Amino acid sequence: MLSSRIPYRYLLEADRHRRREVAWNGHVPEAAMPDPQQKEQRISVTDLEVLARCPFRYYVDRLAQWRPLIPLEFPDHMNPLDWGGLVHACLEYLIQPYLGQRVTLQELAKQLLGDSGGPLRKAVASLPNRFLSRLEILPIPFRQVAITRLETLLKAYFEEVAKGDCSGDFPVELELKRRVPFPGLAGLRISGQIDRIDERDNVFHVYDYKSGKSPPSKLSRDVSLGYKIQPVLYPWILAEGRSQSSAPAAFSFIFLGDSPPSEKALDPLLNVEELLKPFAEMLETGMYLPTPSETMRELEIEGADSCLFCEYASLCRRFDWGACDRYVDLVEQELSSRLLSMGRSSQQEGEI
Ligand code: SF4
Repeated sequence: MLSSRIPYRYLLEADRHRRREVAWNGHVPEAAMPDPQQKEQRISVTDLEVLARCPFRYYVDRLAQWRPLIPLEFPDHMNPLDWGGLVHACLEYLIQPYLGQRVTLQELAKQLLGDSGGPLRKAVASLPNRFLSRLEILPIPFRQVAITRLETLLKAYFEEVAKGDCSGDFPVELELKRRVPFPGLAGLRISGQIDRIDERDNVFHVYDYKSGKSPPSKLSRDVSLGYKIQPVLYPWILAEGRSQSSAPAAFSFIFLGDSPPSEKALDPLLNVEELLKPFAEMLETGMYLPTPSETMRELEIEGADSCLFCEYASLCRRFDWGACDRYVDLVEQELSSRLLSMGRSSQQEGEI
């Protein structure tokens, strides 16, 4: 029996559209980079990670900046982006006074945790208002829960540092911003912001904080595919900005969402120019194809679980009739060098 509450006409029309062959091929020449009309363009390290997973998502989210409509919900916790921003800001606030003092992170951790954690509690209680304004979206009882959670997380991290389970030396830079030329793309720069750099005897160590848990997937595989590109690019960006040469910086992720927080050190041995070459080709031609996971599986790229089921799924049309096969053909034709480098990355992965 037909119900008056179901929009049959709309559903039939939508089904008809879905079965139409997808004609779009991902080519947006107007969005090619660098644009000769602009003086200097830049792409951030995190943008490159989006491009590596799904060029179409990079186009709609970062270049076209289309925003999906999201219904307002009752907020009982901060969104992950704001939470990450708050955690980063607090770590910077706590470590900043010790920069240039030749105090190791371990000594600093012990000071903060001394007297049963009193100095750390005092520091969290005196956080500047500009930090706490991020919490104002939450109802008052939930704000207090968030502050307690923040203090617990910071305490857990400094405990791991004090024990020596998370490394650290003399912190010399915090939230360091750098821009370096994109190899092979004159006029385009890569911008990065490094959370913390420690040093001893002119040997540097780059740290990147993640407020979430360590991923279940193999981290080194994500690095070799470009999905996590910071371990390769941050030491390179740091070296590009230094006048005197020294050994390449070491790199570690700090996963603050793990219980207890954990450090994952990665050896940044990949050849940066080789890794960036296929991305340069994509940007230069403006080729922004969607790369659904099923397409990558069909192409037999091991571990390339590329799709993040983002809010643009209705635009990329990955679930349309025949979309997977069509994207397989298009990726083979239009992103052949990216495909080749993803295949080669299994080999390189052994070196990381
Ligand atoms: S749903 Fe997946 S394939 Fe589609 S745009 Fe988002 S990340 Fe790309």
